[in-house]
Amino acid sequence: NPVLQLNAIVKTYNKGQPGQIEVLRGLDLRLDRGEVVALVAPSGAGKSTLLHIAGLLDTPDAGQVVLNGRDMTGLGDRARTAARRNELGFVYQFHHLLPEFTAAENIVLPQLANAVPAPRAQARAAALLDRVGLAPRADHRPAEMSGGEQQRVAFCRALANEPSLLLADEPTGNLDPATSDRVFGVLMALVRDTGMSALIATHNLELAGRMDRVVRLDAGRVVTA
Ligand code: ADP
Ligand code: ADP
Repeated sequence: NPVLQLNAIVKTYNKGQPGQIEVLRGLDLRLDRGEVVALVAPSGAGKSTLLHIAGLLDTPDAGQVVLNGRDMTGLGDRARTAARRNELGFVYQFHHLLPEFTAAENIVLPQLANAVPAPRAQARAAALLDRVGLAPRADHRPAEMSGGEQQRVAFCRALANEPSLLLADEPTGNLDPATSDRVFGVLMALVRDTGMSALIATHNLELAGRMDRVVRLDAGRVVTA
C-alpha cells in the first residue's frame, strides 16, 4: 500500500545542449504508508530534483510518479495543484513563513485555501502549535521568533491540511547543531503522531540514522545504504 512510487524516473537538464546533465537515470523509489525515509546524497546529486518531481512541482522526462495509487504523470496543472494541496506537505531549509502574519495565521491560511471552515482551521492551528510547544507564540510574527521556532511553525503549516506525505529538503539545515537535533526530534514526533510518510533529504548522517530507512542517490539512481 505505497504512498509514493517513483518508477524509472529520468530527468535531464539542457537536453541536447553542451551543458546537458542527466541527473536522474531510471530512478526507482517506493515509500510505504507511515514510512520515514532519509535521502542522503552529496550536493549536486539530484536531491532537490527528486523532491521537486515527487512533489509534482516538476515533471520527469520519462517514468511514473504514483501518489496514493494514482498515476500523476499525465495530469494537468489543476489536478497536480489539488494533489499538492491535499496530499503533500513541504518543508525547506528556510521557513518561508509569511512575515506579515502570525504563527497561527500562517497555519490557518493554507487550510482556508483548501476550504476548511475558519473555526476548524483555527482549532487545528492551535492544536499543532501546542503539539510543538509553541502555544505561547501563536500570535507572534516570524521576525519575533527564533530560528528553531520559525522552523517548528513551518512544520505545523506543512501538516495543516493533513497530507499523507511530507517532503522535506534539509529541514533543520539552517539551525545550529544542538537546535537542529532538538527541532528534528519535534518533526519526527509530529510525523509519527499523524502516521504520515516522509521523505527527508539531509546531509546529517546522525539525523538520517533516526529514520526508518536511508536511501542514497548514486549516479542518478537510488541505492539502499
Ligand atoms: P542537489 O539537491 O542534490 O544538490 P539538484 O537536484 O539541485 O541537486 O541538482 C542536480 C544537478 O542538476 C546539479 O548539477 C545542478 O547544477 C543541475 N540542475 C539543477 N536544476 C537545474 C536546472 N533548472 N537547469 C540546469 N541544471 C540544473
Ligand atoms: P530555539 O532553540 O527554539 O531556536 P532559541 O534557543 O534560539 O530557541 O531561543 C530561545 C528563546 O529566545 C525563544 O523562545 C525566543 O523567545 C527568544 N528569541 C530568540 N530569537 C528571538 C528573536 N529574534 N526575537 C525575539 N525573541 C527571540
